[in-house]
Amino acid sequence: MNAELSQLVYLVAVVLFILGIKRLSSPATARSGNRLSALGMLVAVAVTLVDQSVISYGWVIVGLAIGAGIGVLAAQRVAMTSMPELVAGFNGLGGGASALVATSAFVAQPTQDLVPASALAASVLIGGITLTGSLVALAKLAGKIKGTPVSYPWQRVGDTFLGVVALAAAVSFATSGGSASFWLLVALSLALGVLRVLPIGGGDMPVVIAFLNSLSGVAASMAGFALDSSVLIIAGAIVGASGLILTGIMVKAMNRTLWAVLAGGFGAVVEGGAETGTQPVRRTNPEDLAPVLAYARSVVIIPGYGLAVAQAQHVMRELADLLQDRGVNVRYAIHPVAGRMPGHMNVLLAEADVSYDLLVDMEDINSEFGHTDVALVVGANDVVNPSAREDAASPIFGMPILNVDYASTVVVIKRSLSPGFAGIDNPLFYADNTLMLFGDAKAAVAELVTEVRGI
Ligand code: NDP
Repeated sequence: MNAELSQLVYLVAVVLFILGIKRLSSPATARSGNRLSALGMLVAVAVTLVDQSVISYGWVIVGLAIGAGIGVLAAQRVAMTSMPELVAGFNGLGGGASALVATSAFVAQPTQDLVPASALAASVLIGGITLTGSLVALAKLAGKIKGTPVSYPWQRVGDTFLGVVALAAAVSFATSGGSASFWLLVALSLALGVLRVLPIGGGDMPVVIAFLNSLSGVAASMAGFALDSSVLIIAGAIVGASGLILTGIMVKAMNRTLWAVLAGGFGAVVEGGAETGTQPVRRTNPEDLAPVLAYARSVVIIPGYGLAVAQAQHVMRELADLLQDRGVNVRYAIHPVAGRMPGHMNVLLAEADVSYDLLVDMEDINSEFGHTDVALVVGANDVVNPSAREDAASPIFGMPILNVDYASTVVVIKRSLSPGFAGIDNPLFYADNTLMLFGDAKAAVAELVTEVRGI
């Protein structure tokens, strides 16, 4: 294929990516957006394969078979609750792939030219940090290493020193193309990823994951400059920019700054969980609760991580439909960090075909809890913890929460008084206007459906 034609087809692929992303901005058009972007990727891969510069199809097929095999297995085996770990893993692989592409470009054809050499250095530095940083984030999310910030004396000074040496190695490589500085850069970038994510507390993981996602795009974009591949430059830039926007949303949702998160030492989760259940609670059961819901004027449902664990989204929707049929004004309040990955609740509710109009963001719903009859909290905990608003000593103090405690009645469905991700007790459970319905979310909501039907 001639070079101009292949550039033109790449341009078509890029337009498809951008149109696809545009359509992802609303759940109503998201599916078609996904298909458009996938089509763009197919076009980009196809044109790369027919391009003359692909020397060996054999290796391409081996890579394809291994990658597709792992992808299919992961998609089938990984539980919905482990999606955040999978996302962290994918970010890491993206960064690692870019670093490898840059490394192989260097090994195949060492360059002295400033621009491609600078791009190679940037791709290795950012890709290496993304790879090992994501693996540490994955291990923290999976509980393989503790979620508390890992710190030691002289940590920041040591990391700053390594960062400066890495930058010096990058500059030296970009200007002289020396292989010693290249391999030093590889080693330092891998070390920096580990050292920079270790001190970040598990509570800040939503921000870290979004930021690493952005870095994986930047690394790909840099690899694109090194290989002179416009499609890689643009696709990487799109991932980098969208990841950065997501990072902005996450830091805002947690009332942090990106700098504070990356500086580390915060975002602690209480290891082993705080002592809970120290005060009496008001228990309820599906039979008593059903009329409270059925005769309410307004019910706001607050889904949380427990809804995902229980896979209660379908039965939850059934209950909401029943209430709506009775004339109850039902909405879902979405906290940006509910669940374990950005957009977790939106994905779950979309899977159950919950109408997008019923989903209300935190900023918009918070002013309405004061005139809501029932706030129905299903498997959420940290995102409705009033101590984030009121207790300056709380590890989550300052994080914006859903003000469900302002509703006339709060109902919390969970299995016990155990804490959530942050490992802290929740005063909401002991409040006078709170009713606790203990049980698995799916089973409890299914019983509520039966009871409401019988009214
Ligand atoms: P939480 O983690 O605070 O609480 C979830 C609650 O669900 C638990 O208290 C648990 O209580 C309950 N639960 C678990 N399984 C079930 C079940 N089968 N049925 C009913 N309840 C169940 O969740 P939130 O969504 O409120 O908050 C998310 C937290 O995760 C925040 O701290 C956030 O910072 C953090 N985080 C978010 C990420 C993101 O990107 N969204 C990424 C990483 C962390 P019990 O055991 O008693 O049932």
